[in-house]
Parts: sequence; C-alpha cells; structure tokens
Amino acid sequence: MSKIIIVSAPSGTGKTTLVSRVMQNEDLKLKFSVSATTRQPRGKEVNGKDYYFLSVDEFKKKIEDDQFVEYEQVYEGRFYGTLKSEIQRISDMGCNIIFDVDVEGGINMKNKFQDQALSIFIQPPSVEELRRRLIKRATDSMEEIEKRVSKAEKEISRAPKFDIIVTNDDLDRAYGEFLELIRKFLNS
Ligand code: ADP
Ligand code: 5GP
Repeated sequence: MSKIIIVSAPSGTGKTTLVSRVMQNEDLKLKFSVSATTRQPRGKEVNGKDYYFLSVDEFKKKIEDDQFVEYEQVYEGRFYGTLKSEIQRISDMGCNIIFDVDVEGGINMKNKFQDQALSIFIQPPSVEELRRRLIKRATDSMEEIEKRVSKAEKEISRAPKFDIIVTNDDLDRAYGEFLELIRKFLNS
C-alpha cells in the first residue's frame, strides 16, 4: 500500500521549496499529489503538473459528483481539493504520495488515512519572517500577501494536531530534518 506524507504550513513558509527538494531523492519513490484549484496559474505553473486549474463551475460539479477526497475554500472564492482519481493514479504506479495541502486539509487527511500517513507541519520562524518571504517571492499582490499573513496565526495554533512540527529557519537544516523524518517513516 502507498504511504502518504502530508505537508502543511502557512503560505510562504517554504513548503513548496522543501517538498520539491525531497522529491529529488528518487529512492523514496515519492509522487506529488496534484491538487485541483480555482485560482489562476502564477509564474511558470503548468496545468496538470502544479495544479489542475479549474473554473469555479467545473470545481463545483466535481464536488457534486463526489470526486474529492477533501476540499477546502482556502481563501474567499478560492477552492483547492484533492481528487480521488489523483490518489488512484499514484497508487497504481506503486509509489508513495506527498501532499501539499492547507492546514485544515492536512488535519482532515491525517484523520482519514491514520497510520498510513505522516503529517508534518512546517512552521515559520515568525510571522514577520513569513511576510518577508512572501514579499521576496514576489508572486502575490500586497493585498493577497496580507490575506495570507493574517491567516497564519490561526494556522500556527493548529500545529499540535500534526504528527510532527519542523521549523523552517535555516533551509538546509530544516531540509535535513524533513528528509530524515520522511525516510524513517517510509522505511518503517
Ligand atoms: P510555500 O510553498 O510554503 O508558500 P515557498 O516554498 O514558495 O513557500 O517559499 C516562500 C519563499 O521563501 C520562496 O521565495 C522561498 O525561496 C523562500 N524560502 C523558503 N525557505 C526559506 C528559508 N529557510 N529561508 C529563507 N527563505 C526561504
Ligand atoms: P497556493 O495558492 O499558494 O498554491 O496554495 C494556497 C494553499 O492551498 C496552500 O496552503 C496549499 O497547501 C493549499 N492547498 C493546495 N492544494 C490543496 C488541496 O488539495 N486541499 C487543500 N485543503 N488545500 C490545498
């Protein structure tokens, strides 16, 4: 059976950076679960690789048809969700699955998959540093950044619901800890 790694964090903490780095370890046989979203692609994002980009109507139709394992309205009018077909696709390949989902989605997934899953919360060193990273990333408007930052404190308060918390202070240090945790879980 595929093992599941759930990674959640406030937006801007460095989740995408850590996940893409860990996936370079081919021996872990990790495949990224591509979520569906109603937000617009940003930067070099590719449909089917970073997300399945859907219209709100398409997304709602899939909710009606019970095609999601979980979904959340992460920001107002912005839906994100994991399709059942995506989990099936990766399981059929005989690979392990890594999820990048929001904090509530991460808690729901862990409840659903229990011991088959390891849930990891990536914590920013501070909310101020989080804002700095989002500004430096330069992919979102200031309004969008403030939305994300104001959500972060509530998200951080949910961290104890995860199996483990990794603070992304120094990237190399955090990555080392992240990789070891995943390696240990997949080999257990
Ligand atoms: P997320 O996926 O959690 O929204 P990203 O991986 O896109 O976050 O990281 C947000 C920004 O912070 C990116 O510009 C990334 O290069 C940078 N970053 C990631 N980790 C660190 C770190 N440990 N120290 C400083 N900057 C970081
Ligand atoms: P972004 O717009 O920065 O790519 O993602 C915003 C938030 O949505 C992130 O916290 C990300 O983890 C979350 N997210 C992405 N895919 C899913 C999903 O399938 N389900 C849930 N619940 N959240 C998701």
